[in-house]
Amino acid sequence: MHPYELHRIEPGSAVDLSAIDPGRTPGLSGPESQERAAAAALHAENILAMQDLQYRLWAESQRSVLVVLQGMDTAGKDGTIRHVFGALNPQGVRVEGFKQPTPEELAHDYLWRVHRKTPGHGRIVVFNRSHYEDVLVVRVHGLVPEDVWRRRYEEINAFERLLAGSGTTILKVFLHISKGEQKQRLQARLDEPDKLWKFSMGDLAERKRWAEYQEAYTDALSRCSTEHAPWFVVPADSKWYRNWAISSIVRRALEEMDPRPPRAEIDPSKIHIE
Ligand code: AMP
Ligand code: MG
Repeated sequence: MHPYELHRIEPGSAVDLSAIDPGRTPGLSGPESQERAAAAALHAENILAMQDLQYRLWAESQRSVLVVLQGMDTAGKDGTIRHVFGALNPQGVRVEGFKQPTPEELAHDYLWRVHRKTPGHGRIVVFNRSHYEDVLVVRVHGLVPEDVWRRRYEEINAFERLLAGSGTTILKVFLHISKGEQKQRLQARLDEPDKLWKFSMGDLAERKRWAEYQEAYTDALSRCSTEHAPWFVVPADSKWYRNWAISSIVRRALEEMDPRPPRAEIDPSKIHIE
């Protein structure tokens, strides 16, 4: 089976994250070294295909793609951006990160800052965190009353329906890592001097709330995987697997869009260049 089908959360189904092993590598087979080599080769093919498809999306300039990346700290959002989107034409791709809201952002509804970053025609935008933080960190830390975050699932579904209806293909990817893998990656940030800048004491505080986050993710994935904006849960303990799975999902979505340059209004045979 293809990663698109393997990892897509069926709309309306209840997700059980504890039943999805973050170390699995479905869709590949054989000893690890063989799987790793296969994934790297297939990933490279995906990138070439994505480059062509991005060119066509840009030429068509009628539709757009929004990729939402979510995951616990160290899950690999930055690495995914580098490995899956780094070889696209920078003219047509943009990465938008969402951190703690500024006072100006907090003075508006939570979708205000998000809506203005969505892709215009012909473009691909990758969200490094997103409006889902407003039902994740906000829920876990009780930053708004429960009745406020509870109604957000429906609001988010309606918002995403608006975007989809306006020509935006939405792909939402949860990078699923294990608590053990996070421990190793946080430790690596402490051990390797050139990674230390990435370490934040805040990450340890969030790690203490691992179970609450998994619960919040479970609700977001279950309530907000829709036909118009599906969620994918990608096992992400292996970086090479994650890269291949995500490039496969993005490639498949672009192929299904099948973007085409507009039909030329000029007849080249009637034009003579002096
Ligand atoms: P990083 O992705 O490591 O740069 O961290 C960004 C931080 O901003 C994370 O701890 C997020 O949980 C936090 N953040 C993002 N969006 C929100 C939000 N809407 N409300 C509160 N915190 C947020
Ligand atoms: Mg961080």
